[in-house]
Amino acid sequence: MNQDCIFCKIIGGQIPAAKIYDRGGVYAFLDIAPVNKGHALVVPKSHHETLFDLPEDLGREVLVALKVVGQAVMTATGASGLNVGMNNFESAGQLVHHAHFHLIPRHAGDGLTLWTQHAYESVEDMQKLAQAIRSAIG
Ligand code: AMP
Ligand code: ZN
Repeated sequence: MNQDCIFCKIIGGQIPAAKIYDRGGVYAFLDIAPVNKGHALVVPKSHHETLFDLPEDLGREVLVALKVVGQAVMTATGASGLNVGMNNFESAGQLVHHAHFHLIPRHAGDGLTLWTQHAYESVEDMQKLAQAIRSAIG
């Protein structure tokens, strides 16, 4: 529990939230400002800041929750699609520093654009970056 963390406070019951899932080490509730109605947040109960801090065992539990809650969100909202997203670090838009996954129900033609895409300057440019990433993986 992190005293300054809003999600820790939600999990601990100190701040109200629309809880939808509470099993093992994972909790889920509705996002207060939904992209589409039913937009849910799946969070580990223990405080970890980003994906990179999440223990693998807990990650497995989170994956189970994403599938269970994701299916339920689609069923309850009548959605035909679902985006799963995670912002890591402020430059990626992470506002709450307690690792969390967004489940966003999608409807055909809802007009939501998640991101714009660009081209590489050249195939060589792309291959060079792929090599750098392979090297970083080791
Ligand atoms: P992120 O930008 O990935 O850190 O997302 C944080 C999310 O938490 C945003 O989508 C907020 O709308 C949501 N949020 C913040 N405070 C609350 C709250 N008290 N209850 C539910 N969702 C919240
Ligand atoms: Zn926390």
